Amino acid sequence: MTGSNAFRQNAHQIVDWIADYFENIEKYPVKSVVAPGEILDALPDQAPQKAENFAAIMDDFQKIIMPGITHWQSPNFFAYFPANSSFPSVLAEMLTAALGTQCMVWETSPAAAELEERVMKWLKECMGLPASLAGVIQDTASTATLCAILTAREKASSYAINKSGFKDQGICRVYCSVDTHSSIAKAVKIAGLGTENLVQIGVDEKRSMLISELEKAIVSDIEQGSRPLCVIATLGTTSTTAIDPLPEIGDLCRRHGIWLHVDAAFAGTALFLPEYRWMGKGIENVDSFVFNPHKWLFTNFDCSAYFVKDKEALIRTFEILPEYLKTKADSQVNNYRDWGIPLGRRFRALKLWFVLRSFGVEGIQSKLRSHMKWARQLTREIESVPDFEMLAPVPLNTLCFRFKPATIHELKAVNELNERLLTTLNQSGKLYLTHTKINGIYGIRMVIGQTNVTQNHVTKAWERIKQTARKMREQGK
Ligand code: PLP
Repeated sequence: MTGSNAFRQNAHQIVDWIADYFENIEKYPVKSVVAPGEILDALPDQAPQKAENFAAIMDDFQKIIMPGITHWQSPNFFAYFPANSSFPSVLAEMLTAALGTQCMVWETSPAAAELEERVMKWLKECMGLPASLAGVIQDTASTATLCAILTAREKASSYAINKSGFKDQGICRVYCSVDTHSSIAKAVKIAGLGTENLVQIGVDEKRSMLISELEKAIVSDIEQGSRPLCVIATLGTTSTTAIDPLPEIGDLCRRHGIWLHVDAAFAGTALFLPEYRWMGKGIENVDSFVFNPHKWLFTNFDCSAYFVKDKEALIRTFEILPEYLKTKADSQVNNYRDWGIPLGRRFRALKLWFVLRSFGVEGIQSKLRSHMKWARQLTREIESVPDFEMLAPVPLNTLCFRFKPATIHELKAVNELNERLLTTLNQSGKLYLTHTKINGIYGIRMVIGQTNVTQNHVTKAWERIKQTARKMREQGK
């Protein structure tokens, strides 16, 4: 059996496999338990010379690959930030794979370019972002932030760095808080600015950037002849989802002519909720904004929504137009090839469209509200238990806490206890949590934001955390 008949049969089998997978996902250990090198050793050293059949490949997928999978779509996944999927998104990804379009310019798939333009406008409206921003889908927030820093660099140097390199350009400075995501330092490195020129500003008790310290750093840099290029404000830092004060940062940036980029990679989705719009106060002053539908908006990785005020500056930063890419429609359409780094682009707008239509804004809001509610409830619960304590405020749905028996006082001992607790919990396979450190204090971090998480999953996870902690103490571990 060959051709489309075989494809049809195999595809049906895969769809059944996917449906079974989602039905049974809680039976798998959430975090893969394989040892380093185990999967590699199980794979043949060389590629097959002869064609193999679908059944054999699927068999190895089950036997070799599945044990090495960590189940990000499990409702017991509370680690990192989620990389959520959903049925509408999976279905759209199937179509995207089948179409196999490469959406570099409008002409290479007009529907992809125009759907992208439309869904990015929808997102802006759903989230209360300024209508003046232009949107483009990037692969990740890391890429979007790199685009922002490169555009800021070029605009500030009147595009001279693109042309002549850093000759006579002086020192350019970028500012962020000490809690900013590592992708910012990476972008500064790649942009050729030098990580020494990334100025990390201190935070207040809520872990929000200290505006007085930011102002002092900018003024001092100007006095010393450096050029303040860009401030990165975070809505929802990775450790604790702290919110930087956008209105004050925006004022400062405007006064000094500095590019303001907002990294809302995870928390941006919360702007779908009118009651969380306080978080985006001051958004009218930003130059660029990124959030990841592939985190909390139920859309498969990868899909990152990047918005920029000065679209022309973005395009001018990246534009290269060889003869073979010129088309007759160029003056009338968005050719996204120069709105970012790679030329080739996947058709990512399709899954976003499927998700937005299948859930509807109300369906999305309802899920987000549940996540916030369960996070608030669990925070109160943890605060009420004597041998546990919260380590940071919970503005959204991410909790940082630790086990702190009254009899253990030394920081190192409490840290080690919590590290052991986390390892034991994750080894159980019943849930997956990660950690952070806040002022040297080791904390367990729990994000309630998986697509299919329910209150029952949260309650069961918390019971397991408490019981495991107490058992460890009883056993003197
Ligand atoms: N910014 C923040 C605040 C994040 O938490 C993360 C990842 O968790 C990123 C950026 C990087 O996201 P991406 O993997 O899309 O580059």
